[in-house]
Amino acid sequence: MIEKKCLFFDFDGVLLDSYNPKKNINFFNYHVGNKLPLVSGMEKVVSELADKYLLYIISSSSVSTIRSFLALHHLQNYFTKILGSENSFGKADKMKEIIVENRLVPDQCLFVTDTADDIKEAHLVGVPVLAVTWGYGRIDEISKAGPEAIINKPSEIVSWLNKI
Ligand SMILES: [Mg+2]
Repeated sequence: MIEKKCLFFDFDGVLLDSYNPKKNINFFNYHVGNKLPLVSGMEKVVSELADKYLLYIISSSSVSTIRSFLALHHLQNYFTKILGSENSFGKADKMKEIIVENRLVPDQCLFVTDTADDIKEAHLVGVPVLAVTWGYGRIDEISKAGPEAIINKPSEIVSWLNKI
């Protein structure tokens, strides 16, 4: 695999700890972007990765929700750009837009996400995928979609990138 330049993060289920019944997420605090919990350990990982890679968020959630979330957790300066529901199209097109904008080849990017559908979208445009198990996707479905690797905690994003 060639050297990575851009990391694409899914939001819901990767950064946002939404799949956690104990944290009592409801539509109101989701909508307002307040009190949304960050996946534990993610702050350190994002700040470390931002030293070496361009970080993007590729999401179906609204950009304003994501911005509030990043501000709440003091992460707003680490991300180059957020592509959300306001940017139309699917995740494959959003990735393609960044690849073209930065004159990259898809293999210089990596999508970190939690669902089989997202894995398929990334592969449509040739972007490799690191699938995480702390989100919504069932492990059997995730692995069937054929991501490049499956990881169980945020720090493994850093160790996986250091290995390739
Ligand atoms: Mg997700």
